Amino acid sequence: MIPALEALERLREGNRRFVSNTRSLETLATRARRHEFVDGQEPMAVVLGCSDSRVPVEIVFDQGLGDLFVIRVAGNIVAPSLVGSVEFAALRFGTRLVVVLGHTRCGAVGATLQELTRPTGGASRNLSSIVDRIRPTVEELLATDLRRDPEALYRHAVRANVRASAEHLRHGSEVLEGLIRTDGLRVVGAEYALETGAVDFFDGVEESR
Ligand SMILES: [Zn+2]
Repeated sequence: MIPALEALERLREGNRRFVSNTRSLETLATRARRHEFVDGQEPMAVVLGCSDSRVPVEIVFDQGLGDLFVIRVAGNIVAPSLVGSVEFAALRFGTRLVVVLGHTRCGAVGATLQELTRPTGGASRNLSSIVDRIRPTVEELLATDLRRDPEALYRHAVRANVRASAEHLRHGSEVLEGLIRTDGLRVVGAEYALETGAVDFFDGVEESR
């Protein structure tokens, strides 16, 4: 089992490689070691990311086969099946780091902002189920002065949405809560900047264990 903080450091290093446009030989070598993963896996981190095509998780962290247990959904929202996926990885593979990875200019967050400020009412029930998960967080921000600055509002909304998903994972599951309390599981929030390629781990990384 790879401890949460060690996994976090590996992700940080991998992202530094991505930003500087270098690749780890070890990452590339996992392709040749494909057969070793047939009978099992020990992913070092679970990443709940957005489906956005510009944020492919393994690429932005320069990781290979068997390294990451990735869950992607528009807006990196948390719904029961997504909590279940995180529980599955934590229990089955002993993965101890969970990362909620949002990104700048997230379309799902933008759509939620639009729905709240200039509603079109045209979204399907299925699409609304995503917007509805993001809505409470954005509504709180709309009650502040940020509503007068659309760009700042958008930036804050992306981060607030990451924080909300991370909080939901920390407290919306007895399984995960137990693992956090007694077993070294850590849930952190991060934002990928489309502009620079850098990932900023900004939530849940400060407090000591
Ligand atoms: Zn997105």
